[in-house]
Amino acid sequence: MMTTPHADVAERFIAALRTNRLGHAYLFIGPAGVGKKKFAMDLARSLLCEHPPGELRSCGNCSGCHLVDANTHPDLVVTGKPADKLEFVIESMRKLLADLSMMPARGRRKISIVDDVDDFNDETANCFLKTLEEPPPGSLLLLLGTSPDRQLATIRSRCQVVYFRPLDDKAVASKLSAAGITDPALAAKLVRLAAGSPGLAVSLADPELWQARRQLLETVSSDRPDGPALAKAWMSHIEAAGKEAAHQRARAGQLLRLTIDAYRAALGIALGGPPPADDPAEASLLNRLARRGPDRLIDQLERLLDAETHIDRRVQLVLLVEALADALTIEAAPVLRSVRE
Ligand SMILES: [Zn+2]
Repeated sequence: MMTTPHADVAERFIAALRTNRLGHAYLFIGPAGVGKKKFAMDLARSLLCEHPPGELRSCGNCSGCHLVDANTHPDLVVTGKPADKLEFVIESMRKLLADLSMMPARGRRKISIVDDVDDFNDETANCFLKTLEEPPPGSLLLLLGTSPDRQLATIRSRCQVVYFRPLDDKAVASKLSAAGITDPALAAKLVRLAAGSPGLAVSLADPELWQARRQLLETVSSDRPDGPALAKAWMSHIEAAGKEAAHQRARAGQLLRLTIDAYRAALGIALGGPPPADDPAEASLLNRLARRGPDRLIDQLERLLDAETHIDRRVQLVLLVEALADALTIEAAPVLRSVRE
């Protein structure tokens, strides 16, 4: 068996292969960064390997393995949402279908790994349905999505759904140390923030992200925070991630996650909990934020959490950030104008 933290999923595929019951379409569901794509790639490699040493294993030496490793195997297509788009566009789907309609070039099988199924639109999904229902013989479709409620029912019902669970803290910590993140205080924070997703833990280690977090928190906890200036600074941190929409959105999501975590910590202090003992700079930052009092912190935390549920959708980032900056800098709860006014 290949090395994977998802032993239950591996066993399921081994059982299917042993009994010759491998399906033609699977929908992998699990948090981003938990290892779904890695598993799909390893599965594809084992199925395209010319001398597999066992089930779900590949030799690493044959031309099949080499072509997979070089991303040039003619019978493996890996596709997803283009980095500059918010949706899985129809053009990408048409390309995939054209490829699937061709005979396997080297062996018996064609494998497609389709990422970002969360971002299918109706047009993309409709175009895919017939192939998903009756794929060409010997083809295997591996679809990757993050949460069950973001999948269209028409797609979900035509796939076998495979759940990838979050990993335990120890597995995330060992992934961090393998990635060279050895500072124990930072590693502990990242493990907490990543909630079982090693990929997310590694991506959150970026020092620029923590710098941006510090700046944003200093601004919101200053005496007279300026909403528009905060929005501008916030957007410039997001835009520093690169020109492409997907990168900016990912950065926005990471920054939001760190901010939510800080607000939670500040709320804990506002409710009488102790500030972090091991990090004086962090403690003073959170103490300042905590002085806003639990009511306002709760309101603002709600706004942050609400923004988090929208960040992957088709909402314009700049509008989301402006609304958040407003909510986080407002002096007190806005007084609603009376209807009679
Ligand atoms: Zn091989």
